[in-house]
Amino acid sequence: MATLERGFKAWAERTAAAIRVDLGLTATAALDPGTLAAHLAVQLLRPDEIDGLPRDICIQLLETDPWGWSAATLELHGKTTVIFNPKKSHGRRASDIVHELAHVVLGHEPAKMVFSQDGQLATRTFDQKQEDEANWLAWALLLPRDALFTAKKSRMVPAEIATVYGVTEMLVNFRLKMTGVNAQFQRGSRRRA
Ligand SMILES: [Zn+2]
Repeated sequence: MATLERGFKAWAERTAAAIRVDLGLTATAALDPGTLAAHLAVQLLRPDEIDGLPRDICIQLLETDPWGWSAATLELHGKTTVIFNPKKSHGRRASDIVHELAHVVLGHEPAKMVFSQDGQLATRTFDQKQEDEANWLAWALLLPRDALFTAKKSRMVPAEIATVYGVTEMLVNFRLKMTGVNAQFQRGSRRRA
């Protein structure tokens, strides 16, 4: 996260909170990636739902190399579209999709729809700063600090939190650490001891 500008993380947390208010979600409610996509007027498609996607590319994405890609944002017939990998776990899919939606919120340019010779979908040029920004905003959308705090307070373990919020346990553990919620509870338990 070395590329993030000072203040970005706090901005991301505030922006995520504001978006969640727009969606009518409380600070502790789970966010459905499909609802966020609809709110942003972004269509979510599996590769086999894309009109005109060459069959060999579809096979490449779903059969030959289903673990080699996550999701991508494209302009498709004038509509911002997130193509997601339906083979990934529910939790991985949620962070993949919300990561792409975070790029949209951040105004990052989507890639042009290009199919290369070797059957790869050409996606946005890799920009570490934009990736870090999208990650941070996506994680804040999926797991707000308030939600983590409330979950810890009610003694939920990371696996339970992951189930409730539809994310991976790995993301829960990462966010518990990065938001300082874990440290806050450790301090609390030391005081009680
Ligand atoms: Zn990205």
